[in-house]
Amino acid sequence: MSSTTPSAAAPNPAAVPVPAAVPAPAAAPAPAAAPAPAATHTPASGPHCFLALDIGGTKIAGGLVVLPAPDVPEVHLLSSVATQASRGGAAVLETVVDFAQDLLVQARQAGLEPQGIGVSSAGVIAEADGAIASATDTMPGWAGQPLGAALREACHLPVAVLNDVHGHALGEASFGAARGARTALVFAIGTGMGGAAVFDGQVHRGARGVSGHFGHVYHPLAAGLTCSCGRESHIESVASGSGLARLWAKRAAAQDPAAQDPAAQNPTAQDPANALAAAPWRAASYTGRAAPAEPEASAEPATPQSSTTSAAPEQPAPEQPVPGHQADYPREVSGGGEVAARAAAGSKFAAAVLQDSARALGQVIAGLANCLDPDVIVLSGSVTQAGTVWREALAAGFAESAMTPVREVPLARGTLGGKAPLIGAAIHCYQQYFQHH
Ligand SMILES: [Zn+2]
Repeated sequence: MSSTTPSAAAPNPAAVPVPAAVPAPAAAPAPAAAPAPAATHTPASGPHCFLALDIGGTKIAGGLVVLPAPDVPEVHLLSSVATQASRGGAAVLETVVDFAQDLLVQARQAGLEPQGIGVSSAGVIAEADGAIASATDTMPGWAGQPLGAALREACHLPVAVLNDVHGHALGEASFGAARGARTALVFAIGTGMGGAAVFDGQVHRGARGVSGHFGHVYHPLAAGLTCSCGRESHIESVASGSGLARLWAKRAAAQDPAAQDPAAQNPTAQDPANALAAAPWRAASYTGRAAPAEPEASAEPATPQSSTTSAAPEQPAPEQPVPGHQADYPREVSGGGEVAARAAAGSKFAAAVLQDSARALGQVIAGLANCLDPDVIVLSGSVTQAGTVWREALAAGFAESAMTPVREVPLARGTLGGKAPLIGAAIHCYQQYFQHH
C-alpha cells in the first residue's frame, strides 16, 4: 500500500490548508519549553513530509505523511514492529528510536525528505518536551521516558508528541468521520477506553494532558468494580472490551448456584460489589430491553415499551437463574469479541451483557454530549464492531439521556482505522511547527 510518490498524495497541496475545515489556530499552544528546532527545519511553503509514529502496548507503527493534503493523506512506507512492552520503558524507547531512524533512511531512499516527526503515544504526554508523564501497566516503565528529546537528538528533526487517542481523534477530526466539525467527541472503545474532545481542529489537552479520559465516568452498572485507574464504578469497567468480560464474569458468578456462598442468603450484608452482583437484574430492569432505535435516527426517544427485541416486555431478564441448574455459558470469557460472538450465535445471556453494557455507555456518552454539545460523536475501536445489538442499545441509551437538542447529534463510526493516529500525529507536528508561521 505504500506509494513512494509524495506528489500523488498531494496533487495541489499549496492550495489547501490543513485541515481544510479548520480555522487558523490563533492561539495555538506553542511548545514553549521544547528545544528550539529552528536550525533543523526550514519553514518553506508548500507540502511537508512528516515521519509519523504510533506507539502502543502491542506494536509501534510508522509511516510518512505529506501535508497539507486535500483529502485523506496516504501513509507511505507503512510498517510496524512489536513493542514487547514487558522489556520495560527504556528498551521500548530504544526500539522506537531505531525504528524511526530506519524509516528515515527508507524515506530518503524513496525520495522523501521528512521535515518533522509526529508521534502518537500511549500514556499522558508532557506538553513541554514530549516526555511520558504517566502510563498504565500495559507499558511498564514507559512513564518518565524522554520520548520527544530522544527522537530529536537521534533524528535531528523537530518532534511533536501527543497521546495516541488524542492523535486518533485529531486524525478523525481532520480527515475522517468528524471532518468539518467544529466540535467533536471521539470515543475509542477497545480493550480499554479513551477519547478526546476536539475544538476547532485542536485536541483539548487540559491542564495536565489528561483530558479525554471518557472511560472514567461513574455509572451504576459498574458499581463495585475497581477501574484500571484505581477508582471505583467507572464505565470503562463494563463498556470496554475487557469491561464486557468483567460484566460477564460478574453476572455469571452471580447466577451460578455453585458460586453462591451462605452469604447469598443475605447479600446486602456483604460488600456493595457482592450485593450488586447478587441482584444483577436490578440493572437489567432498565437495561435489559434496549429499544431498537435506529442508530442514526435518534429523533424519537427510545422507550422500554417500544421494544421489539423482547417477546415478553415484562419479563425481567432473558435468563433467570434456576437453583440447582447449571448454566450453559462459561463463567468467564476472553473479552468483548467473545461476548459479541456468543450473542451473535444466539446466547441470550451474552446479548443481555452486550445490551446492558452498550446502553450504559450510550448514557455516559449522552451525558458528555450534554456538557459539550458536539457537532458529531465518533466511535472507534474493536468494541464498535460488536454488532447490531450493541449499536442499537448504545443508541437507545444515548437517546434516553441526551437532552432534546443533543439527541440529534450523529453517532458516527470512525473511518480512518489504524491510520488515524499516524495522520493525527503528522497533523499535530504540522500545526506545532509549520502552520501559519
Ligand atoms: Zn477509571
